[in-house]
This record gives sequence, structure tokens and C-alpha cells, in this order.
Amino acid sequence: MAEAVTDPAELLRSLGLPVSLADTLAGKHFPLRVPRGFVRRMERENPRDPLLLQVLPRMWENRPAEGYRPDPVGDLASMVVPGVIHKYRGRVLLVTTGVCAIHCRYCFRRHFPYADANPRRGEWEAALEYIADDPTIEEVILSGGDPLLLADTRLAGLCSRLQRIPHLRRLRIHTRLPVVLPSRVDDALLGWVGKSRLQTVIVVHVNHPNELDGAVSGALADLADTGTILLNQSVLLHGINDDAATLAALSEALFAAGVMPYYLHLLDKVEGAAHFDVDEGRAISLLAELRERLPGYLVPRLVREREGTPAKTPVS
Ligand SMILES: *Cc1c(COP(=O)(O)O)cnc(C)c1O
Ligand code: SF4
Repeated sequence: MAEAVTDPAELLRSLGLPVSLADTLAGKHFPLRVPRGFVRRMERENPRDPLLLQVLPRMWENRPAEGYRPDPVGDLASMVVPGVIHKYRGRVLLVTTGVCAIHCRYCFRRHFPYADANPRRGEWEAALEYIADDPTIEEVILSGGDPLLLADTRLAGLCSRLQRIPHLRRLRIHTRLPVVLPSRVDDALLGWVGKSRLQTVIVVHVNHPNELDGAVSGALADLADTGTILLNQSVLLHGINDDAATLAALSEALFAAGVMPYYLHLLDKVEGAAHFDVDEGRAISLLAELRERLPGYLVPRLVREREGTPAKTPVS
């Protein structure tokens, strides 16, 4: 974490690219952050490298775009107590931290007011009480930011308190860390993941097959060995993964690493991300092409999140 690259000029120079590709204004509110291991997976001298484009602040982020908002999916309206987002039946999302090991430019929470949402030490109580009081909740999703940036002692403590809530069946962890910083999957983490009474699901976030290397596969294999189910969600991103060959290669590479493709999200219309959008018609035809190339179980579900609906909306 401490060694992550935060200076766009340093990043571009290390890749043999002109520093003018980055925009200083765009990086002001949501600065560059990328772990060195992720940088090593970028291709040198390629200004369109699909990993570089996910993290580099660009001038297009400053252009106002119709319909793009700071909170595109209405998370704040669904926050029932600080840090608990309860939108869908049976599952609640717990915002555990605002910090991420990588800053993805298209992130729908890039403007999220984490300071207000973050359950501080004492406030786990309010969150746990809310979950304990609603017997319809069967699954808790640890999200963020990246929940695996919390210390293992805190995470293990939280999980042991959750597993004592009798109506909970599943624990889900939404994290990008096994991909962007695979060394996070260490003995301390493997000491508590999958040990709970709750069935554990880890949903990672990979958008392009180049994100997977030997270290990532090793980390994923270690997680799978704990009996945890591994799923992946991606965002369909213009210029990064919006072609059928890339998406097919991604599904194949994920499966080879023991991860099932889960969701392919259409971009949430967050301010500053309009240049990543792929329109719905094109997304649908890409999915049709993907279905022709892959076994059904390797085709992710194409979804869009719409505010006020009881689930992710399938796009077809
Ligand atoms: C996406 C999301 C979930 C999980 O939805 P699934 O369809 O079960 O993956 C839960 N809560 C919130 C607030 C979400 O945005
Ligand atoms: S890892 Fe996830 S939450 Fe963090 S910046 Fe990237 S998309 Fe956003």
C-alpha cells in the first residue's frame, strides 16, 4: 500500500509514455493510486493499455456530461444507519472503509462521502443491531472502499459477531485486493476467511485478462482452498474491454483461476466517467457474441443498476 504509485508523471515515465497524457485537475479530488504490481502488468509504451486507462486521470473527467451525477445509484438514500445500505431483500451492504488500494477512474463511489458513511469503532454496534433486528436479512456484504484493507483482527472480530446472528446464512466480501495487491492474501487473512459458520463468497473485480498473473492466480487458489466461492464482477468499459474477444478471454482466464464470471455491469453514470460509457445496444450485441463463443456458465449476467428497483436489472 505504502509503495503504491501516486504521481501520474512517475507512472507515465516508468512506462515510457509522455507525462502530458495525465490531467492534473482530474487527479485533484480523486488522486491516482495504483500498486506497483499492477503497474508491472501494464504494457510499456502503450498509451491505450487497458490497465493504464483504468487508473490514469484524464482531461475528459472534467467535462460535464448530461445525466452523470455524484451518487448515480442512490446509495445515500438507502443508508439506514451509518455504513449500512439496505436496498435489496435479504441482503445488506456494509461500507467498512472508504479506502481502496487502487483508484479506478470509473468508480461509482468516487464522490461517495465516506466520512459520513463510515461506521467508526463504536458504530459497528448500530450496524450489528440493525442486522440483528431484521430477521429477513440472510446475507451481509462487506464492501467499501475495500473491506480487506481493514486489519485481520478487526475483520475476524466483525465476522465472529456476524456469525452469532442466527438468521444470517452468508457472508459476502466485495474486494479488488486479491487482484491489485495479491500479497494481501497472507496467512493472517487465510486464518479467518472461510472459518465462519456463514458460507463465504468473495466477489473480486477484474475487467481485463491482463490483470491476472501468476501471483493473482496463486492468491485466488489460496482463497478457494478455504472453501470460499469465488465470483467476479466487471464493468463494461469503452476502450478497455468492450470487444467480444477480450471478454471471452477474461471469462476463460477467470475460470482457469477458479473464479466464476458473475456480473458485467453497464457503467453507473457517475460524474467524470462519461468517456467510459458503452451504450446499451452495443452491450447487448457484445453479449450475444459472447454467448456464441463460450459455454453458458462463462457468460456473465449483463446488468444495470437502477435507483429504486428491488434488484439489479438484467439488460437484454
Ligand atoms: C449490488 C448490491 C447488492 C448485491 O446484489 P446481488 O444481486 O445480490 O449481487 C446488495 N446491496 C446493494 C446496496 C447493492 O448495490
Ligand atoms: S476498487 Fe472498487 S471501490 Fe475501489 S476505486 Fe476501484 S471500483 Fe471503486
